[in-house]
Amino acid sequence: MEVGLGMGKNPTLICAPIMADTVNQMVELMHKAKFKGADIVEVRLDHMKSLDPRPDIEMLIRECPLPTLFTYRPIWEGGEYNGDEISRFDALQLAMELGADHIDIELKAAHEFMNHIRGNKPEKCKLIVSSHNYEYTPSAEELGNLVARIQAAGADIVKFATTANDITDVARVLQITVHSQVPIIAMVMGERGIMSRLLCPKFGAYLTFGTLEEGKVSAPGQPTIDELISLYNFRSINTDTKVFGIIGKPVSHSKSPKLYNRAFKEAGVNGVFVHLLVDDVKKFFETYSSPDFFGFSCTIPHKEVALACCDEVDPVAKSIGAVNCLIRRPNGKLFGCNTDYIGAISSIEIGLQDGASQIGSPLAGKLFVVIGAGGAGKALAYGAKEKGARVVIANRSYDRARDLAELVGGQALTLAELNSFHPETGMILANTTSIGMQPNVEETPISKEALRYYELVFDAIYTPKITRLLREAQEAGSKIVTGVEMFIGQAYEQYERFTGLPAPKQLFRDIMADY
Ligand code: NAP
Repeated sequence: MEVGLGMGKNPTLICAPIMADTVNQMVELMHKAKFKGADIVEVRLDHMKSLDPRPDIEMLIRECPLPTLFTYRPIWEGGEYNGDEISRFDALQLAMELGADHIDIELKAAHEFMNHIRGNKPEKCKLIVSSHNYEYTPSAEELGNLVARIQAAGADIVKFATTANDITDVARVLQITVHSQVPIIAMVMGERGIMSRLLCPKFGAYLTFGTLEEGKVSAPGQPTIDELISLYNFRSINTDTKVFGIIGKPVSHSKSPKLYNRAFKEAGVNGVFVHLLVDDVKKFFETYSSPDFFGFSCTIPHKEVALACCDEVDPVAKSIGAVNCLIRRPNGKLFGCNTDYIGAISSIEIGLQDGASQIGSPLAGKLFVVIGAGGAGKALAYGAKEKGARVVIANRSYDRARDLAELVGGQALTLAELNSFHPETGMILANTTSIGMQPNVEETPISKEALRYYELVFDAIYTPKITRLLREAQEAGSKIVTGVEMFIGQAYEQYERFTGLPAPKQLFRDIMADY
């Protein structure tokens, strides 16, 4: 892929929604928005406890350190205002006359509002006509008609926000954005729609919303200003920016965007890495098939289905039966490989080394017990076998344990059998299930008593870094290797495949040291 950020800052604005009870609180938040790096503020008049229109709006405009957008959203469009329409229109008209840079009027009220102001709109003030759909994202044709109606209503700037029930809903909205002849704000609300808010500079949107603090959103799915600027390198995103992301369900806990976006920034790679909450992997790859969507990490529970979506699969990944790294080739073909096994096995080997130089892998000849038979389980089992270990698989679904054991020439156990399984000492244990992952941090797959038979215990989970399993293994005298080590190891490999550049190993370690 190309390296180099190209042009400087993109023209898409970051707009901070300002919601507070009083004018003074609003003004304080406006200054905070400027300090954080917002370009414009949306003054949500409907959130104020009481409004004395002339003095309040005058002060809000006078004291605001940034350009303004005034919104007075009624309850019937998802806002807080429940008064009469004439008073609402009067306040918005006053905001225009007093120097607001933008005002927002809902499409449903636009005709009435236009009659109300009789065409008297100051040149400086841009009219945003908006439409919100809190249930779903309409078809491409319906969205096209919606944009035409918004334009016909007299909009200087078109705005619509829909709701994502599937991540592929975002594609239709990005298509409308990129082809729009007029300035446009187009958002898809909800966790499945977050990509629309982050990638909009690539597709030429007028603005995106960034909140002052996490959770203080004016619509579902809004990122913070800090996340936009520091985590996603929002200012550097342009038409040529390649999109990368982690596909999973759930996925918001993944640290991958932190790692890759920092590395992209430091190496000058024109890419952005986002969370992708995907329900249907096949539909996702069919929808986002352009080379703009360049590289994907894949996590729970999609690694096996993702393999079936690939046109080409690395032979090791094929044996494992799971991919965790996918790349869209310039010819449109999807290539998949598995970097989990390299990350996990190399970190366990390092954990076993005692400083003395050794020929061959320290895993050779060891009894290696894998808990789990999903994507990570297969990767560990395959990797251990490659290194000459004798492999045992224990899994909740015994059939899957048996199938994997057959594949690697090993033995299968039920989870219940694990506590009494100790044919020898000095074994290796690798948990690859989500037992013990946040929020269920008090869960563990094996009794503390049984841990004393293991020389080393590894846990693929990396949230939390020290799981109950690892804590008890330490107490039982075993060496431990955390999922963070595996995560860093598999990420090195993916970064090199994504960019063709050597991974910034120290940077990855520094970032992950915080967890
Ligand atoms: P996966 O393919 O969905 O497999 C999940 C495995 O966990 C299956 O064996 C499943 O058993 C078992 N499992 C799930 N919930 C369970 C429960 N409540 N009780 C008992 N067993 C349960 O997922 P994956 O991709 O392999 O990921 C598994 C874990 O590894 C996750 O915690 C993930 O975060 C972690 N991981 C970490 C890294 C890293 O870099 N550190 C990389 C990859 C994965 P059944 O077969 O019975 O359903």
